[in-house]
Amino acid sequence: MNKPILVFKFGGASVKDGDAIINVVRILERYNSHNILLVVSAMGKTTNNLEHTFDAFMERDLDVFTERLTVLNNYHTEIINSLFKPQEAGKLRNELQLIFNQIAEYFNKDITIPRAQLYDGFISFGELISSKILQCKIEMDLGLSKWIDTRTNILTDDLFQKANVQWPNSIKAIRKQCLPALEKHGILVTQGFIAANQNGKTTTLGREGSDYSAAIFAHALESESVTIWKDVPGMLNADPKFFKDTIKLDRISFREAIELSYYGASVIHPKTLKPLQNKKIPLLVKSFTAPDEPGTIIDVDTSNDHMVPSFIFKKNQVLFSITPKDFSFLIEANLSDIFSKLSEAKAEINIMQNSALSFSFLIDHDPMKIASILDILNTNYEVKYNTDLELVTVRHYDEKTNEFVCQNKKILLQQRTRNTARFVLG
Ligand code: ASP
Ligand code: MG
Repeated sequence: MNKPILVFKFGGASVKDGDAIINVVRILERYNSHNILLVVSAMGKTTNNLEHTFDAFMERDLDVFTERLTVLNNYHTEIINSLFKPQEAGKLRNELQLIFNQIAEYFNKDITIPRAQLYDGFISFGELISSKILQCKIEMDLGLSKWIDTRTNILTDDLFQKANVQWPNSIKAIRKQCLPALEKHGILVTQGFIAANQNGKTTTLGREGSDYSAAIFAHALESESVTIWKDVPGMLNADPKFFKDTIKLDRISFREAIELSYYGASVIHPKTLKPLQNKKIPLLVKSFTAPDEPGTIIDVDTSNDHMVPSFIFKKNQVLFSITPKDFSFLIEANLSDIFSKLSEAKAEINIMQNSALSFSFLIDHDPMKIASILDILNTNYEVKYNTDLELVTVRHYDEKTNEFVCQNKKILLQQRTRNTARFVLG
């Protein structure tokens, strides 16, 4: 009998140092009646640090590039030294040396290659390194396990930095490679976030994309569930950064989780839910420091969605109000003109509303976007805008929740549907 398959995703915080990695191994030990495909992110803040190193590469600043690379190298070396004795893990040390040589050599790459393509090739080193280290530790402590290159599994188009998955090819490749390997090795370790196009060039699925990688593997393998291991007890009803008394959501539906992530809740990468929902594969969000706790279950069951109100805060918002200069009513023709101009300005609208003579919309603060919106709309419209605002969305609101979020604030715009209240506050 084949063991049932679980997919686990461990993010950067869960593998940020030697102790964290040992904790991952402890968690895996609890699941020896399953085969596990493990998707791992880059360690700690490595992706951000690689981005800074990449900037130095683009600016042709060899000194800064080398300096940042040394920091990355020292960080990972320290982790390896805390996990393995000097005589252990020789193969891993050699492999990592090769990767660090490749990173150093990247400086000589042809920079006429499109920036996004260069970025993806470079940024992928973080996940390649973390997955090698983790796999080596698992193999040493638990016996069998195998490192898998996700770039021969998740196949995408050429949209570097935001690649689209080619589903039929990816499903075929994942099943062909991972099903027998899971049977043989029990635990497979692969990379989140990165993938490859049809020519084998490295692509990425967008920042924080490792959750999505886990969902893609789970969908293809039809796993029993996916667990995202985090440094919070589960999905909370608000971001603890903004909110003191958060409540854990014990169980919500895919639908509700998709709504929450649409409004800006940042616990799960927004693309993660659809591939799971399509196959009815439950998603568990659990704490890697309290693995016995149930965390949050996200599945098809909608019966608990209304139990707890959720709060989503977006700070640093800009509210535009525009009025046609000729005082024409805002009917379909003007609206279509406004939308095509906003799309030209690449404005990403968080909320919008119109009256007879004015159209209002809210965007994240971005000086370049503000300038281009003004530039594009100024000819035909009177444009005003307000900065330093906050957008608050309350799911499953009542009068008390609304009073609470709006107290001592000025309400510039509000919208309510049956389940959702949204406020632009100043
Ligand atoms: N390491 C990548 C990032 O930091 C992907 C991920 O962590 O999900 O964006
Ligand atoms: Mg991360």
